[in-house]
Amino acid sequence: MHLAPKVPLNNGVLIDALGYGVYKVPAPDCADLVSTALDAGYRTVDTAALYANEEGVGQAVRAAVDGGLPREEIFVTSKVWNDRQGYDSTLAAFGESMDRLGLEYLDMFLIHWPCPAQDLYIPTYKALETLYGEGRVRAIGVSNFEPEHLHRLMDATDVVPAVNQIELHPWLQQRELRALHAELGIATQAWSPLARGGLLEDATLAGLAAAHGKSVAQIVLRWHVQSGHLVIPKASSQARIAENLNVFDFVLSGTEMDTLAAMDSGRRSGSDPGAMK
Ligand code: NDP
Repeated sequence: MHLAPKVPLNNGVLIDALGYGVYKVPAPDCADLVSTALDAGYRTVDTAALYANEEGVGQAVRAAVDGGLPREEIFVTSKVWNDRQGYDSTLAAFGESMDRLGLEYLDMFLIHWPCPAQDLYIPTYKALETLYGEGRVRAIGVSNFEPEHLHRLMDATDVVPAVNQIELHPWLQQRELRALHAELGIATQAWSPLARGGLLEDATLAGLAAAHGKSVAQIVLRWHVQSGHLVIPKASSQARIAENLNVFDFVLSGTEMDTLAAMDSGRRSGSDPGAMK
């Protein structure tokens, strides 16, 4: 079993440097796959109302706790979906997520997308602040926020987001956002860290993988960890779930990190945050 190092968020709460993401994990498979991940050593799980699999995440977490794993060692993230933005509807959506998860508290709750056309992310975040103040969630943050959304949010609210979860991988390195996060004390969490698997065919990465006796996925995940990103790869087999966590026993050299830095092309695998309604 491998364990990822724990990293403090800006409020001192610990999160795993590498967790398990469950977007597109079908609901009937979710509990088994999250249990597989917990058995492999994962302690952070990333879900969302949109993924329609919060029940399975909660079932696996409760089973692990019943089996002796302390709840405090597990970190569960969920997110409010775009059609529930607004103060009251976000509070209601949180309650529904918690009912599906069947947990007493949530570790982190995020605004899934800023949806600037709706112009509701400020009241939505104020609802997250209320939940945080009530102790129902240990950390709050955002996802897919661009610099202008972060600046406006920070001017209008009190709690600095713990995390901005963004699409981030060697083809889309998000240098401006990462620099802003560092300045503001916001952790960068990488979604689609493997570009949804697209990066795994890259010949340069295959060369690095061969040199280290690792897989291409492990090289990319190691690049994330060494770059200081929190990372949440998704995989659907026991072997790949375990493989993705096994990245803490080797180091990429400065030259190898430069090789990865040179792959930045701005190529997205997901939606553009400014365009998401
Ligand atoms: P990833 O970059 O994690 O890639 C997942 C794909 O890579 C799957 O097809 C998986 O295959 C494959 N894969 C994973 N590990 C390996 C491996 N070791 N060898 C070969 N193939 C591998 O993409 P995701 O889009 O799933 O992103 C990860 C997580 O980020 C999501 O699950 C979700 O939690 C979060 N996310 C958040 C978003 C947001 O807006 N906040 C948006 C999108 C994702 P297989 O499943 O067949 O094993």
